[in-house]
Amino acid sequence: MVRIPMFVLALSCGALALTAACSEPTPPTQPVAPQPATEPAVEEAARFIDAAEAELHELSTYNNRAAWVAATYITVDTEILAAAASAKLMGVQADYAKRAARYLDLKLPYDVRRRLELLRTSLTLYAPADPAKTKEVATIASRLEAMYGAGKYCPANGPCLDLEELSRIIAKSRDPEELKRAWVGWHTVSAPMRGDFTRLVELANQGARELGFKDTGDAWRSKFEMRPGVLSREVDRLWGQVKPLYDALHCYARGRLAAKYGEDVVPGAGPIRADLLGNMWAQDWSNVYDLMAPEGAVQIYDLDAALRAKEYTPIEMVKTGERFFISLGFEPLPATFWERSLFVKPADRDVVCHASAWNIDDEEDLRIKMCIEITAGDFQTIHHELGHNFYQRAYNQLPLLYRDSPNPAFHEAIGDTIGLSVTSEYLQRIGLVDQPPPASSDVSLLLRDALTKVAFLPFAILVDRWRWGVFSGDIQPAAYNEAFWELRRKYQGVAPPVPRSESDFDPGAKYHVASSVPYIRYFFAHILQFQLHRALCEAAGYKGPLHRCTIYGSAKAGERLRRMLEMGRSRPWPDALEVVTGSRRMDATAMLDYFAPLKEWLDQQNRGKTCGW
Ligand SMILES: [Zn+2]
Repeated sequence: MVRIPMFVLALSCGALALTAACSEPTPPTQPVAPQPATEPAVEEAARFIDAAEAELHELSTYNNRAAWVAATYITVDTEILAAAASAKLMGVQADYAKRAARYLDLKLPYDVRRRLELLRTSLTLYAPADPAKTKEVATIASRLEAMYGAGKYCPANGPCLDLEELSRIIAKSRDPEELKRAWVGWHTVSAPMRGDFTRLVELANQGARELGFKDTGDAWRSKFEMRPGVLSREVDRLWGQVKPLYDALHCYARGRLAAKYGEDVVPGAGPIRADLLGNMWAQDWSNVYDLMAPEGAVQIYDLDAALRAKEYTPIEMVKTGERFFISLGFEPLPATFWERSLFVKPADRDVVCHASAWNIDDEEDLRIKMCIEITAGDFQTIHHELGHNFYQRAYNQLPLLYRDSPNPAFHEAIGDTIGLSVTSEYLQRIGLVDQPPPASSDVSLLLRDALTKVAFLPFAILVDRWRWGVFSGDIQPAAYNEAFWELRRKYQGVAPPVPRSESDFDPGAKYHVASSVPYIRYFFAHILQFQLHRALCEAAGYKGPLHRCTIYGSAKAGERLRRMLEMGRSRPWPDALEVVTGSRRMDATAMLDYFAPLKEWLDQQNRGKTCGW
């Protein structure tokens, strides 16, 4: 996860008239009759965008400081201060976005036009200009997020359970009745969100239309800078590439679950019950690896034990991650990173432990916030978070609106790309693993990876397929839940453990729906990370199987990567992709290469079985 300075929730002024910029109502955009561009108007546009960046930079730095304190020292007061700082930033940003649209009919220099357009599309939730409606959007959005955050299931006999506790049951229990209760329990939390969500869709669409978008889904897709309709077709094309791999994994997993639970719980054909896969949304199946492990498989190396045996501390784990980037030719992190980051959970106060990477001032004030434990998972996460930090620093010389990845998928993909290089070969080179695991354990390692990364793909598609339909009106409120389950069945091949109806609102049981965070970026990030990994391995001169490649120590791979990171968002994403891969298209064949030995093995296991659903 990364904290990006430009903010997600856009409120237009009215309710939050906190600045001079906000106090004046925005005149409507000029009708789009091309007018001769006068020099003064062009100069005014350039001055406007410079001024917008200067003010947003100041507000965003202040907002980041407030948010940092709120996340690392949770009190009533820090929450209020952080909310006020964020509301102010969002109000100003929304106002600038609306005013930016006025200049877009002019003939403008590339960098002025691009930054104006980025400003216009930098928001996520749009509020109509009417102050009462703006306030309503803000109120509903925070209420939905709070309903999710505070959501608990209170069984008739026994204490109330929150998402963490219910997730632990879904991950660990192997009793189908207990799993069902935990799943149904969490999905009671979202049922009351339906009315608010429906109203929010109406209002946000109205706000998006005021900025010239067809609807909110159109506005979200615009961040990827593809022509209308192209993004959706790209999703289909990439999904077509990886679907045979997913189908093979699904078939194998269903067989193993049937062996565990019996055919009456897991029928030999048809979708899998969504509560049996170890995760509340069936988006990551690695918690049921124990049920999936190849029979008689060689033990996978135990990184947890190695970290403990070598007496790693949290700081040493982060230093190790930093050394990975230094080995690629990046400069060491600044001293303030070590002074200001949060590495361990404080004993005396509450903090938000969810790992994140920050650049407080969008310049050199880089930090991570984690509650590091000496585990293999956290070792991976550190490499991932540092990927964000090195990205943030690489583009910090550019104009503010360029200090981001070229589309939302790239920031997440970079950290994971480096994560793919945390291989047993790498661990051996840094002295954490004594000898390379035998090639015979490759299938087990790949299966464990696939349960996380391949199993995730269809879920990552359907969340926004559903929302795009909702925003466009193709999916009407009366069919919200039915349409959601049609998509889950179609893409994931899963089904609810009990019948659902329109008195439920199951999409809201996912954080990103309750809190209006777009999701398709995670699908693209999962495809991109393998594509980038393969290209960087080639740059490093690596020849063997892709899943064993690490770019650790390769100045050539580092140079290629750095050139892309330094571009920030100054050019459309195909330009950035081309720098590393030589291609302007996203391509899932690298993911297929990576998992090729597993696919072959799965096909053997599935021989004679009826696959599909
Ligand atoms: Zn991340």
